[in-house]
Amino acid sequence: MKFEGKRAWITGASSGIGHAAAKALAAEGAEVILSARRVDRLEVLAIELREQGAKVHLEPVDVSDRAAMEQLGERLVALGGVDILINNAGTMPISPIINGRVDEWDQMIDVNIKGVLYAIHAVYSGMAERKQGHIINVSSIAARTTYPSAGVYAGTKHAVRAISETLRKEAIRFGVRVTDIQPGSVDTELPNSIGHDKIRGIVKSNMYGDEAAMLKPEDIANAIIYALEQPSHVDVGELLIWPTRQE
Ligand code: NDP
Repeated sequence: MKFEGKRAWITGASSGIGHAAAKALAAEGAEVILSARRVDRLEVLAIELREQGAKVHLEPVDVSDRAAMEQLGERLVALGGVDILINNAGTMPISPIINGRVDEWDQMIDVNIKGVLYAIHAVYSGMAERKQGHIINVSSIAARTTYPSAGVYAGTKHAVRAISETLRKEAIRFGVRVTDIQPGSVDTELPNSIGHDKIRGIVKSNMYGDEAAMLKPEDIANAIIYALEQPSHVDVGELLIWPTRQE
């Protein structure tokens, strides 16, 4: 087992990439801490993983709630700390900037940027004290490019990539590795977060239903495992994963 004795905290574990990553980590012996807002989903996953012999903790949280994330950070310390953070929770209510959907901009910035920072803050000191830890931030191909309607989302993902690269440079001398994972299109529930009806319809009809044009959440979980399983002198800074047919 690759991660026996390791404790991993996965945000956004209730669906998609986080769900697949939690399963992959538990299958490799990690003790897992599952976070998201939908407790019912987390409970179903916890039952499945415990039946397979995994040690599982449920920590429902809204990652954009700073006070709740600080309290959760204290509980993680009490648990003995975290060896691995899969900083994955995210939302994508995209729309043209010129439509001015300001509440959705706030939501993306709060969840995709502040939530990522709050999670880093919750685990970093403990990792640095123990001189070992691995933070995996899930950004996107939208951390490298952008397209109409994706401006604010891409802005948040560019920010996550910048945060990852900066943290990698700051933290590596304290024994903490950082990896930025950049998936292309993955078949998950993410488009359900698009509030703009026309854009949601376009996103779903362009890619969804065409299996060859999309990755599976397990493909990204595999990339996460690859980054985590490298020997301690190797830090996979970033991984960009495309579906074969995505341009
Ligand atoms: P899903 O919608 O399936 O999963 C998103 C997860 O984030 C859910 O578990 C959701 O849980 C959680 N989440 C959302 N908002 C919050 C919040 N405020 N607090 C806590 N948890 C929250 O989508 P994906 O699996 O695709 O997304 C995972 C990550 O991958 C995101 O960061 C996304 O931007 C990124 N990504 C996805 C791509 C794709 O094509 N699918 C491509 C590139 C990157 P809950 O609703 O229960 O809180």
